[in-house]
Amino acid sequence: MLKKQFTALLIAAAFTAPTFAGEHAHGDATVAQGFIKEILAVNTSYDKLHNAKFFKELASGQHPRATVVTCSDSRVHTNMLDKTPEGDLFMVRNIGNQIATSKGSVQYGVNHLASSLLLIIGHSKCGAIGAASGDFSKLETPIQAELTTIGKVTGDIEGVKTNVNNQVAAAGSEFADKIKDGHLLVIGAVYDFADDMKMGAGKLNIINVNGQTDAAKIAAALSAKPAANEHKGH
Ligand SMILES: [Zn+2]
Repeated sequence: MLKKQFTALLIAAAFTAPTFAGEHAHGDATVAQGFIKEILAVNTSYDKLHNAKFFKELASGQHPRATVVTCSDSRVHTNMLDKTPEGDLFMVRNIGNQIATSKGSVQYGVNHLASSLLLIIGHSKCGAIGAASGDFSKLETPIQAELTTIGKVTGDIEGVKTNVNNQVAAAGSEFADKIKDGHLLVIGAVYDFADDMKMGAGKLNIINVNGQTDAAKIAAALSAKPAANEHKGH
């Protein structure tokens, strides 16, 4: 019982910690051995669930409608937004859902796979945002590098939103021509499993469309007819 309470305390501490501190722990290879067995069993049933046509289609190539940039956080996954992500979502993941630390991957999805939606997803209780808001000079150098690019943020949900808006702005500069020509829509959203935005726990809240952050303008941008372009059908 005590151990349970202690574990609950540890979990609570990890959720509220302003830095990555508290997430430090050693893994256990015996846990890993058990987990890989589970993984293989799940893969076997996945294999059975899908027919040969499904895999043949995947093998023939990919035409993902969206390039999605999310945080690496284990609480954030595509099943909250797409029932069949295979072949449809080009996934880019890093700490803090950033353009800067995965620029090549984002460029590949948008420029070479021709995704017409670039979806950038932050999330509540983001450890990277918490860490970036404080002193992270004691962390490993590569981690420091990936936190520096987040810039100045607060460690709460406002910081998460600021970061998403900054990432949409970065994408807006990078892909300005594509956005102007109606080839690309850049959307910033927050997956709020903690209900920090008071819109409902687990909701994906869109907070930015092509740089627009005003709710009425977002609604208008989402319903507006995309700009005419000469490459329709691509
Ligand atoms: Zn995160």
